[in-house]
Amino acid sequence: MRHARYRLRELLRLAGIYAAALLVGVLAGDIWVAIALASTGLVGWHYVRLSRVLEDVASRRRLVATRRAGAWDALERMFARRQSELRTRRRRLVDLLRTYQRAAAALPDAIVILDRADDRIVWFNRAAGRMLGLRIPQDVDARLNEAVASPHLANWLAAPEREDLLELPSPLDPDQTLSLHPIVYNDEQWLLVARDVSRLMHLQKVRRDFVANVSHELRTPLTVVHGYLDMIEPEDHPELAGIVDEMRRQSHRMTHLVEDLLTLSRLEAQDALAEEETVAMRPLLDTLRREALALSQGRHRILVSDLCNCDLRGSTKELHSAFSNLISNAVRYTPTGGEIEVRYEAETDGGVRFAVRDSGHGIPSQHLARLTERFYRVSTSRSRDSGGTGLGLSIVKHVLALHQSHLEVSSRMGIGSVFSCRFEAERIVPRSEEAVNA
Ligand code: ADP
Repeated sequence: MRHARYRLRELLRLAGIYAAALLVGVLAGDIWVAIALASTGLVGWHYVRLSRVLEDVASRRRLVATRRAGAWDALERMFARRQSELRTRRRRLVDLLRTYQRAAAALPDAIVILDRADDRIVWFNRAAGRMLGLRIPQDVDARLNEAVASPHLANWLAAPEREDLLELPSPLDPDQTLSLHPIVYNDEQWLLVARDVSRLMHLQKVRRDFVANVSHELRTPLTVVHGYLDMIEPEDHPELAGIVDEMRRQSHRMTHLVEDLLTLSRLEAQDALAEEETVAMRPLLDTLRREALALSQGRHRILVSDLCNCDLRGSTKELHSAFSNLISNAVRYTPTGGEIEVRYEAETDGGVRFAVRDSGHGIPSQHLARLTERFYRVSTSRSRDSGGTGLGLSIVKHVLALHQSHLEVSSRMGIGSVFSCRFEAERIVPRSEEAVNA
């Protein structure tokens, strides 16, 4: 509406100029010269206004809107308004960016923005200076592995596939433990978030020590109770026979519990195996079969297949404990008449797999992810009745982690379960001549 008004006014102005030129031409006796002069004047005036507008738009100075009513003035006003809107929007964006930056800078966790191509540091907050020792401006644009003096971090950065979480001692204070978490958020950059988890680690250690100490302290009184219970002959006190039997059963259960808790505490305190040896799998599988037969007492069909002409590097004692836990679970959770198959076999890509398959009750899928938690049981009564402590699979998980492996479980209700683990090629040792012929 307003633009139509400007257009009309501009047309009237044009008509007025040419009418005046016509009048002057008529009076002067040469209409065409007068019109030509008016046209030239008009073109010149438009050229001057156009140049001014172009200059104003091209320059970065603040445009001032005029109050005049011509089309060029309207255009200038429009440009001035657009410029002021843009400036306000930019100011708001800058303010927002500053607010975000201030918030990120004040976060208690260290935050470092890095280039994905070569891990160069783009930005970091104050906590990153405190925890990782990064300095402004020296470390901006430096590579992370050069700016932070930590061999753990350098190895992690160099790994072909980076783990999701890395725990490492702080490069500034070895008593401080940091947990590092990488977040890839676009094609060019990634975010490293580091958190001080020293307190959490300390609390975990206190909990571990507490459990280990209590378990240790319980050992002696339990041995005494056992001793006295063994001295009571049920034949001498037939009226106490049932009670003594139950007391013996319960004190055995407690002893198992204490032993399992001590084993777990010991395993949890280890980051790596103290000593590695060649685990002779053939005799180990023979022992496992004998133990399974003894536990089953003829109630199951037990098959042990050694299909790999190789042994493992690791701890015989720990692997024996993990494998026998899996087999004893298979026996305990498979009804009489069921089948248990243990297979030790090579995989096509160079690893080996140890698997225990049973034809037992099976485990509902919602429980599978939590089976290795301490005291997690699918059915508490079934576990207790079969002499379980609820710690077996936790022990298995820790033993396997020390051998860079993990437990895989698949199960179908009413059909059975398969508990298996895979050992990488680096853990495999070809069997010696004597072992093969033994
Ligand atoms: P528990 O001493 O109770 O057997 P575990 O840690 O060894 O403790 O096992 C945790 C739970 O996982 C068990 O209580 C049981 O419910 C379930 N479970 C383990 N192995 C099997 C299996 N082979 N078949 C069915 N359930 C199993």
